[in-house]
Amino acid sequence: MASLRILLTPGDGIGPEVMEEALKSLARIEALYNHEFQYETEIIGGAAIDKYGTALRPETLTAAKSSAAVLFGAVGGPKWDDPAAKVRPEQAILGMRKGLGLFANIRPVRIHPLMIDDSTLKPEVLEGTDMVVIRELTGGIYFGKPQKRWTTSRGRRAVDTMRYSETEVRRILQVGFEMARQRRKKLTSVDKANILDTSRMWREIATEMAADYPDVELEHILVDAAAMHLIRRPSSFDVIVTENLFGDILTDEAAMLPGSMGMMPSASLGKRRKDGTGIGLYEPIHGTAPDITGQDKANPLAMILSAAMMLRLSLGMESEAQSLEKAVDAVIADGYRTPDIAGKDSTPVGTTKMGDLVAERVAR
Ligand code: NAD
Repeated sequence: MASLRILLTPGDGIGPEVMEEALKSLARIEALYNHEFQYETEIIGGAAIDKYGTALRPETLTAAKSSAAVLFGAVGGPKWDDPAAKVRPEQAILGMRKGLGLFANIRPVRIHPLMIDDSTLKPEVLEGTDMVVIRELTGGIYFGKPQKRWTTSRGRRAVDTMRYSETEVRRILQVGFEMARQRRKKLTSVDKANILDTSRMWREIATEMAADYPDVELEHILVDAAAMHLIRRPSSFDVIVTENLFGDILTDEAAMLPGSMGMMPSASLGKRRKDGTGIGLYEPIHGTAPDITGQDKANPLAMILSAAMMLRLSLGMESEAQSLEKAVDAVIADGYRTPDIAGKDSTPVGTTKMGDLVAERVAR
């Protein structure tokens, strides 16, 4: 059994508001399943800049390293928005990823049948959509060297380098194969193998690894085609795995399928143990929503679903994770909606009430 130490980093804006609601449901899990989570709370992001002059204190990273998981709210806001500033709130999340070796970003995309009309896509296109998009997080063109700009007699020049090692590619593909194995057993590997050498190597390694996963169907698609198919036939995907830059774009595209950011959880994972668990950072994909902060309007469901991912992927608590997810489904089915997902014939509720309703429905 993994340690039950959980670091809470609520952050700024609506971060603390949605975190509080997730904790209500986690308290129900503790009571129902006889667990005792050991929480530690750290200030990060803009709040930490105000208090300590840095977005992520070394003490916070040390606390994260000795925890099984980090439950992260969101960081940032107009007060700290100067992109030229030396200390910026987002350094908290980047520092956590680097410090904890989180190399895989996971975003499940599932459309609740009752919310299918909220999307900008036609219901018949979206029907049955239930996929996970996995993005490599610590390699590729974001970190490859050389990366620089210079001026020549014929004008400005710049270079970025897309670089991958076999180890980096194998470990992210492994996350993809393992996840596909636990789901509908289909893995779509996205690359640009008709142009890029990194992609040709990626495709080659994926094909080699497929021999160890005979139960998983592997398909390769070029990233341009993937961008198209995501909105044309989203329900045909099960698990998608891709490198950093392609993943950055495709995860945001996929995130828009359900129509609301307030429903979308995410996980960033590091090294896995044999049982599949390991350190992870779990956060809603939305930001700090300064426009609705402090108004009891924020949708806490993405944060609650992030907590469910934490139970599953860092604590190895599959039944507990499902209990949380079922409670969220039940609240949606009962017609309760925060303003961002308000629909016809729904019952409007605020952040706190939504948190209470989910917690009440958490059952074993
Ligand atoms: P945002 O996600 O905060 O908000 C975009 C829109 O979605 C807003 O209208 C907001 O009210 C709404 N929204 C977001 N989450 C919601 C929720 N749970 N319930 C209901 N409505 C919700 O994005 P933004 O406005 O571009 O950024 C605001 C701040 O958040 C910026 O400082 C940005 O840097 C930061 N940010 C942080 C993270 C993170 O911490 N991981 C991610 C994205 C943005």
